[in-house]
Amino acid sequence: MAWFDTHCHLDFLPFSDELAKHLTEFELHDIQLCMVPAVGPQNWQTVLSLAEHPMLKVGLGYHPCFLERSALLGKPEQLLPQLDTLDQLVYKHRQTLSAWGECGLDGRFPETLAHQEFAFVQQIVAAKKHRLPLLVHSVRLHDRLAQLIKQQQFDVGGIIHGFSGSYTQASRFVDLGFKIGVGGGITWPRSEKTRKALRRLPIDALVLETDAPDMPLYQMTTEHNTPLHLAAIFQCLSELRSESHDQLKHMLWSNSLQVLNLST
Ligand SMILES: [Zn+2]
Repeated sequence: MAWFDTHCHLDFLPFSDELAKHLTEFELHDIQLCMVPAVGPQNWQTVLSLAEHPMLKVGLGYHPCFLERSALLGKPEQLLPQLDTLDQLVYKHRQTLSAWGECGLDGRFPETLAHQEFAFVQQIVAAKKHRLPLLVHSVRLHDRLAQLIKQQQFDVGGIIHGFSGSYTQASRFVDLGFKIGVGGGITWPRSEKTRKALRRLPIDALVLETDAPDMPLYQMTTEHNTPLHLAAIFQCLSELRSESHDQLKHMLWSNSLQVLNLST
């Protein structure tokens, strides 16, 4: 039984430097698979190239916080050329891809919300067409996001990454066929609401992730977050759950494979 980091940006520093060395270290710590999402045109090609490594699964998408500045100055439709490029890249490399992402909505940037929604809806439609699960970035806008997924009758599932929210919000995503990405956020004292949700959700709804190099854990001693912290996140999660360690670890692994349509 191994670990699966369902969301980490290994094309970012410090990992992009000496990636092979980092991957060897992950393997030594029983991390067998990592899902690497893209954020925008600037890293689509780099992320695609990572799929050459057997430990890495990749997704392509357009992250709501990485929408191009020049397009944000005009109408949301100005994002269409880039979204078309993305669609063509996905079509061309469909066999290499395990997911569409990351994409979603971020409520910390209300001034770009019209653009974010436009880009997200276009991507839901495209991911449905290509039959790829979504890797979703959802910050402070869970209800709106669930509504958009539902409106498009999206039926391929995916992962709500780094979930922070209530049981009701999480359940709505689970009902829409999504898994809940459990990350380092749950280690913080302030995350009581999220921990409460994770206690109650069905075990087959959960997957683990780090969002490395971002999303630090509480009292983290390293400069950057890393997939090596999966075990610490697991420890925090297991304290909330009634399942045995083995059972929980096994389910997290098999849930990850299932949602990304992988087999080993
Ligand atoms: Zn991310």
